[in-house]
Amino acid sequence: MANTIWTIEEFTCPGCSMSYSATREEHTEPHAGSFKCSVCSGVVHSWSGKHHFFGWQAVKSKPPVFGRRWAGVGW
Ligand SMILES: [Zn+2]
Repeated sequence: MANTIWTIEEFTCPGCSMSYSATREEHTEPHAGSFKCSVCSGVVHSWSGKHHFFGWQAVKSKPPVFGRRWAGVGW
């Protein structure tokens, strides 16, 4: 069984600046594919080579703030 190397990479949609993360998996045989933005249908990333990307998900670069102060919590 080959060692599997997974790395997380981030991409930004050139059309709407949506951020995505994907898991890059190294392969011994060439793969080709592409991922399209779920917001604007633009191609976020296309690849070909001895790796593959899967597990695409949108990244919330600015997490919502619920108006709660986290600093100085005494518990
Ligand atoms: Zn987009």
